[in-house]
Amino acid sequence: MFKVECERDDCAISASEGMSTLVYYVPIYNKHGENINPDMNTKSGSGLCNKCKRQWIYKTVRNETTVTEVTRDGSNTNASR
Ligand SMILES: [Zn+2]
Repeated sequence: MFKVECERDDCAISASEGMSTLVYYVPIYNKHGENINPDMNTKSGSGLCNKCKRQWIYKTVRNETTVTEVTRDGSNTNASR
């Protein structure tokens, strides 16, 4: 589902499904074979590594998944301060 940058080889991340906007998008193709009605649903959830106890949140939009680490103080590593 998603890749995280854990430092151990035997990392095991248990993921929990969060919210998703469940709308079915019927694929519509133009004559060039391009999907002009892409899936715009947003999925998000979290994962916790059982080995190094790092926690991650993920968000998937249009088949692209972004993963951010949640630091121990609960703040987002990408958040500006
Ligand atoms: Zn890990």
